[in-house]
Amino acid sequence: MAEPSTTRKVPAPQGNPETGSFWDAARQGRFMVGRCVSTDKGGCGKAHYYPRSICPFCFAPGATLEQASGKAVIYTVSVTYRGAPEPYAIGYVELEEGPRIMTNFTGAALESFRIGDPVKVVFIPTEPDAPPVPMFAPA
Ligand SMILES: [Zn+2]
Repeated sequence: MAEPSTTRKVPAPQGNPETGSFWDAARQGRFMVGRCVSTDKGGCGKAHYYPRSICPFCFAPGATLEQASGKAVIYTVSVTYRGAPEPYAIGYVELEEGPRIMTNFTGAALESFRIGDPVKVVFIPTEPDAPPVPMFAPA
């Protein structure tokens, strides 16, 4: 079985003004999701990812960041052996808050991840002075 790489270079995230708060929280080890304003304020109240100021479901403005639990279950997973210097596991997880997000998996043999397995967020360092990126490891 392929083990997660300990030498793989993870590129720094390319932030923008709308995602700055998300990456600032990531530097503190906090994983955030977006939350639409509540229905009494004209929104749908649903969580979304990546966080943005306008809700992707109902287009209401004023969505906010909230700290997620970091808990998720694997929705899809695939191990990629070709086209990269080292194998890696990639797929989607369904967050406890609802959104399904694309991610990399780490913290266990790459072929050991299974659909439905519980996982938790971990932050992987990138480049010096750049924020870490979220990935998911066995819970
Ligand atoms: Zn909404």
